[in-house]
Amino acid sequence: MVEISNHMPTAELQALDAAHHMHPFSTQSGFTKKGARVITRAKGTRLWDSEGAEILDAMAGLWCVNIGYGRDELAEAAYRQMKELPYYNTFFQTTHVPVIALSQRLAELAPGDLNHVFYAGSGSEANDTNIRMARFYWAQKGKPEKNIIISRKNAYHGSTLGAMSLGGMSGMHAQGGVVQNVHHIDQPNWWSEGGDMSPEDFGIERAQQLEKAILELGEDRVAAFIAEPIQGAGGVIVPPDSYWPELKRICDQYDILLIADEVICGFGRTGNWFGSETVGIQPHIMTIAKGLSSGYAPIGGSIVCDEVAEVVGGDEFNHGYTYAGHPVSCAVALENLRILDEEGIVTRAREEIAPYLKEKFEGLTEHPMVGEAKIVGMMGSIALTPHKESRAAFAADAGTVGYMVRERCFANNLIMRHVGDRMIISPPLVITKEDVDLLIARAWQSLDEGMAQVKAEGLFKPA
Ligand code: PMP
Repeated sequence: MVEISNHMPTAELQALDAAHHMHPFSTQSGFTKKGARVITRAKGTRLWDSEGAEILDAMAGLWCVNIGYGRDELAEAAYRQMKELPYYNTFFQTTHVPVIALSQRLAELAPGDLNHVFYAGSGSEANDTNIRMARFYWAQKGKPEKNIIISRKNAYHGSTLGAMSLGGMSGMHAQGGVVQNVHHIDQPNWWSEGGDMSPEDFGIERAQQLEKAILELGEDRVAAFIAEPIQGAGGVIVPPDSYWPELKRICDQYDILLIADEVICGFGRTGNWFGSETVGIQPHIMTIAKGLSSGYAPIGGSIVCDEVAEVVGGDEFNHGYTYAGHPVSCAVALENLRILDEEGIVTRAREEIAPYLKEKFEGLTEHPMVGEAKIVGMMGSIALTPHKESRAAFAADAGTVGYMVRERCFANNLIMRHVGDRMIISPPLVITKEDVDLLIARAWQSLDEGMAQVKAEGLFKPA
């Protein structure tokens, strides 16, 4: 048991939290019945809660703490920057040193001619920027009607009105209106939607939906296609190998912008600096956030190619956020990138840890309730099923079983999320082989306990 820092008893904290703090993506009234777990500190891959439990964080927070928790260098970078220049904006022909340095570094790291950064405070804001920038770009080129953005069902691009509209989460669309002129095609989820097709044929079919949509909507109406290289919050949907090459062909053939949402995939998550490199594409714009600062300070942005930056820069782009290029966030991000690079964290994750994690993670398919395990670099998912051969869903609402297993993971001090009936991981890139062994052992135990519960409730049968 570790020492607990001085604070109110957990029950009191929980009661205050339930009374005054509105949680994202939560049923608020639930907190009065069952309080939130209070996280008090963290180091490396571990979190501690207010009861002193040590938890293995296999989600790196919300897919963001790539560098691991507790790096003093980042805290010191923030402290130094706050003393030197805590805030200044980048509107009205002003700039500052941290934003210049970070932009130069990102231009170096980003592939091809992605040399220009427009900053935001988060991934959602950056995707709102992308909607406006893509439309402004075509308007600048004399084609204001070229304003439809094609995205994918079950994609996650954020929670602001624009980003939510880009995303393909039906539960979010159902709660309030969406912005106009966003069109969704199907996702490359072979496990759930592939039917009798081979994964490769299915990948081609799903990619060609983009071409069909462009032809139906009209090439002169479509501004851009946006996608996560590997779909994250949709359940870590790793597409068949045929998928991205076909999408690339289509994007190259038609005159539309390709926007890669790298908010999760960026900064080492897929084994390279960017997911675009992993799937072999050269986007016009990349959305970044999360791993950019390893979550230590809020920052997001759009990395933009030469041509788009030049066209957009030809007139005043009436868009910008107070905290865009915040000096403290930029200083923290720079230090984070320095450490990721100089300590070889991205390379080591790709060459040593990702292969080890893949082998162990794929071993979970030997569990009777696990149908497939998919993993790219340091993001992976398993599909839960009562019948592996037919890839059947459970005789329960989607997500019922996933939630049960997630609860068991929580009880076993492992943070693993569920999306529907897929369980997902995205650990800090600094996770060790010993941590991987512990992750798998706790996951296996949670699956066992979850399965016992599923069986006891009569749900272990195909829908
Ligand atoms: N894009 C993707 C791919 C994401 O996964 C997320 C967050 N999970 C976002 C955008 C939104 O980022 P934020 O929560 O920082 O607004």
